[in-house]
Amino acid sequence: MKKTILLFLIPALFPLLLKGQTAQITGWQKEKHKGFTLMYTSSDSEYLPLYEMLTIQGIESVSTFFGLPFLKEATICVHPGRRSLDSTWQRDWSMPEFTSECWMVASGTAERMDMISPVRWETEACEHRFADSLKTVQLITHELVHVFHGQRNVSPDFSNTAGIDWLIEGLATYASGQCDGERMSAVKKAIAENAAPGNLDSFWKGNLKYGLSGSMVMYIDKTFGHEKLISLLPYATKAEVFSLLGTNEQELLEGWKIFMQNQK
Ligand SMILES: [Zn+2]
Repeated sequence: MKKTILLFLIPALFPLLLKGQTAQITGWQKEKHKGFTLMYTSSDSEYLPLYEMLTIQGIESVSTFFGLPFLKEATICVHPGRRSLDSTWQRDWSMPEFTSECWMVASGTAERMDMISPVRWETEACEHRFADSLKTVQLITHELVHVFHGQRNVSPDFSNTAGIDWLIEGLATYASGQCDGERMSAVKKAIAENAAPGNLDSFWKGNLKYGLSGSMVMYIDKTFGHEKLISLLPYATKAEVFSLLGTNEQELLEGWKIFMQNQK
């Protein structure tokens, strides 16, 4: 009897295993929308209209910022909790022992965006509150910038990039509107106190990482031009980025400092 059940179950599970992401968790459902598919568990059914709206809004903001459409439809995976998100990251990043930090709530690559259900951030995360509606919208938009970027980068999940964390994260921070007054002031203060990092590899590190990386991309956008910024999307290395901008790291850092000091 047991053998019969197993034989019956294994072929039934194969499609799930092949599709990957949801194999470990039962009860996943999907809902197809224009431009994306939402994956969710029954615990989030009631929030689907909200998440659908936030995704549509985010996709629109990102396409408007770049003046370009997404190249393919992505899957938006709404995890019921941190354990579910971690198990996906462990598999996708081939890091079976990986445990996320409490501030990590979402990720985005060319194919998909994963996030802990935003209504649960209060209990499942630190530093994020669903009730901060503007920040919640910006965070979802930030991840969708990664999706957009991944669709146009030679490394769709960014695993084969080198030295451009500041650009990947800075672009998502800047294009999603996360370069707010508070973050920009903190960066200006760090520059004034000579506490800003002296190399780009240190930009996506520490408490100021969003402000530092985001403001560098803002500087490129405002100084080198929006078209130039968009032309950086396919590249995976710092050397390629400098070559396209016709500059080097030292010049870029110096120009950024002056640009930031002149910001109101
Ligand atoms: Zn990011």
